[in-house]
Amino acid sequence: MEMAAHTLPLLPADRPRYIMGVGTPEDLVELVGLGADMFDCVMPTRNARNGQLFTEQGTINICNARFREDAGPVDPACDCYTCRHYSLAYLRHLYTAREILAYRLNTIHNVHYYVNLVKGMREAILAGRFADYKNAFYAKRGDASPAF
Ligand SMILES: [Zn+2]
Repeated sequence: MEMAAHTLPLLPADRPRYIMGVGTPEDLVELVGLGADMFDCVMPTRNARNGQLFTEQGTINICNARFREDAGPVDPACDCYTCRHYSLAYLRHLYTAREILAYRLNTIHNVHYYVNLVKGMREAILAGRFADYKNAFYAKRGDASPAF
């Protein structure tokens, strides 16, 4: 994060700024705040295959026993195919049974989450309210401040 803060302002302002292999939702919010424009990362898909799902409230692990009988969606704020059609309990069952559909449904959710995260940041920047967006992002997660 320190290196990005140092180098991003040195890049031409009229060119896109790309950061390779990043990262967590918090990483993206912080780096967009520093001026980064593009990322690529395996996290949405790899973490989905490992049962880790990103939500507005933070990251959850679908293996957790508290989801055994949870009829709710992964993220009530999400309108992806997975959240509209499947419960946490069913996704947990698929995952613990090593059913390949679990990996696909988890991936659909995580990719949707990342696309909406970046879309929300883009809209906030264009509206001149990125600072408000960033504050709301951390508030939804119960974090008063970023982890950096
Ligand atoms: Zn979803």
